[in-house]
Amino acid sequence: QAKVAGKGCYRFYSKAMDQAVERRVQLEEELRGAWERGELSLHYQPIYRLADGRPMGAEALCRWEHPRLGVVPPSVFIEVAEQSGLIEALGRHVLVQACQDAATWQQPGLEPPFVSVNISPRQLRTGDLPDVVASALQSTGVMPQQLHLELTETAVLGDEAQASALLSRLRATGVKVWLDDFGTGFSGLSHLRRVPVDGVKIDRSFVADVLRDPDDLALTSAIIAMAHSLGITVVAEGIESEGQYAVLRERGCDQGQGFWLGRPMPANEMRRAFREASGE
Ligand code: C2E
Ligand code: MG
Ligand code: MG
Ligand code: MG
Repeated sequence: QAKVAGKGCYRFYSKAMDQAVERRVQLEEELRGAWERGELSLHYQPIYRLADGRPMGAEALCRWEHPRLGVVPPSVFIEVAEQSGLIEALGRHVLVQACQDAATWQQPGLEPPFVSVNISPRQLRTGDLPDVVASALQSTGVMPQQLHLELTETAVLGDEAQASALLSRLRATGVKVWLDDFGTGFSGLSHLRRVPVDGVKIDRSFVADVLRDPDDLALTSAIIAMAHSLGITVVAEGIESEGQYAVLRERGCDQGQGFWLGRPMPANEMRRAFREASGE
């Protein structure tokens, strides 16, 4: 009986796996050339200074408008792009587009809003990232300080010495480096001393529970204290309520983003929002 069920299960899972692989291969095929066909675009989510609520910049988030499937979330297609190598070309397009959009946010006499771009582990490993970044800045006239690169903890884990060298090279050009989804990896706070970064983004899983779970509040406070002692900026992700905003501000968190503050929006809306915030 068990044997029969086991066999059935095996066949069931194997078929499901085949379908998953097939779907993946198909997505990969469809992702190829998607940028050129205009199916991919960038949305922007504003990032605010918590002390006074001023918008400081925005994170670029990629969207894929699939002709048949509708909007495919980045959590699905970035991984496909990463594993197939398509991320290298996609990442270059994203950097140039993000800089092009950020160039339109500048206003005379005001500090320009920054644009923060997600960089996947593979883009970091290929090694030509500093050149790709330099050429995006040059072709768009965006100042290096206006560009932030978001790397995940796991991307810089593994070969720390090599990652550190690359990050130092990038930071020497004036570009700022932030660690994304901070706190979810196993590297922990001690990592901050060895990897040279300008900022950390506290993962939204901590922010989500910051009012309910004393452990998450304690950890968040510890991250803020440790980062500040090293001169590192702290940004909170996923602020969904006024209460979360208030407690993070009270604990000294520098900046934040989240649905309560502002959802990701198309580039033209983001530009309008920056203009309105500066009082025209
Ligand atoms: P991430 O870099 O951690 O980006 C933040 C994600 O949290 C975004 O999801 C954003 O829409 C979402 N978010 C923001 N505020 C809230 C909130 O208050 N509540 C909740 N529940 N979620 C919030 P999104 O746009 O689906 O992106 C998912 C991930 O995909 C990103 O996580 C990033 O790792 C990756 N990604 C997106 N665009 C790119 C890209 O151009 N290149 C690379 N390499 N990765 C990208
Ligand atoms: Mg990010
Ligand atoms: Mg994140
Ligand atoms: Mg918790």
